[in-house]
Amino acid sequence: WKEKTRKPDWLKRSVPGGDKYVEIKSKLRELKLHTVCEEAKCPNIGECWGGGDGHTATATIMLMGDTCTRGCRFCAVKTSKAPPPLDPNEPENTAKAVAAWGIDYVVLTSVDRDDLPDGGAAHIAASIQQLKQKTDGRLLVEALVPDFQGNADSVKLVAQSGLDVYAHNVETVPRLQSVVRDRRANWEQSLATLRAAKAAGARITKTSIMLGCGETPTEVTAAMQELRDSGVDVVTLGQYMRPTKRHMPVVEFVTPEAFAGYETSAKNMGFLYAAAGPMVRSSYRAGEFYLSNVLR
Ligand code: SF4
Ligand code: SF4
Repeated sequence: WKEKTRKPDWLKRSVPGGDKYVEIKSKLRELKLHTVCEEAKCPNIGECWGGGDGHTATATIMLMGDTCTRGCRFCAVKTSKAPPPLDPNEPENTAKAVAAWGIDYVVLTSVDRDDLPDGGAAHIAASIQQLKQKTDGRLLVEALVPDFQGNADSVKLVAQSGLDVYAHNVETVPRLQSVVRDRRANWEQSLATLRAAKAAGARITKTSIMLGCGETPTEVTAAMQELRDSGVDVVTLGQYMRPTKRHMPVVEFVTPEAFAGYETSAKNMGFLYAAAGPMVRSSYRAGEFYLSNVLR
């Protein structure tokens, strides 16, 4: 593959700034919270964190440390077979800090912990319960969770923890799973966990696909249809961006028009909500739709 190094104009966005952003950043340091938004240098911070102007303040917090047992080819997170043990105080401390921050919607995400018998499901579930308790249920919680190697008990534990949205990303179309994701991940396993989450009572299930990895439009549409047929409620599609030269190259920069076409197709398929665009990330302004349309 030849990397297309020149970013098209639609992917250029200025680095966030302004008084409000600086104030939030210093507050986060006090609270010792680590957000994916900052660590991934996400270009959407200004919009997501800002709140106001009729939109909901959203942030993504990473649980279970910064080291993953997997090594997906698109992901910049550190890898180790034996990451440090979980911090038993993390669920409570995270909940305290998020409650003090005062955002309306939080996305919890995590590394994969294949070294733990339950994949970290109990830790994630405890974090969700603490967040709900410490905010008297006001905060809406989305958890973007691993596939737990298909462990149905782990899926159920998280799905029944009181969360509002159960998210798990299939990342790419079926044909490219082994090219893009770690060898322990695959389409069928991911789809099975999304189905199991719904069956266990998750109110809304959600997934994301990165485009620009070599998939064809027909494959994208077929993948979306299979997700819908499996009961997945929400889908987001965004452009894959290579984090470093050691990662998988970008095959194509998908145009905003093509993304708009996928968004329309997804809505026609009956997804409750679909967002597709070059800058869309699975957590991009995640709260808005849910607050105004589904969860309240
Ligand atoms: Fe990154 Fe998640 Fe893959 Fe781990 S499992 S390498 S955190 S995408
Ligand atoms: Fe954070 Fe996600 Fe928004 Fe980026 S898109 S700023 S990671 S909540």
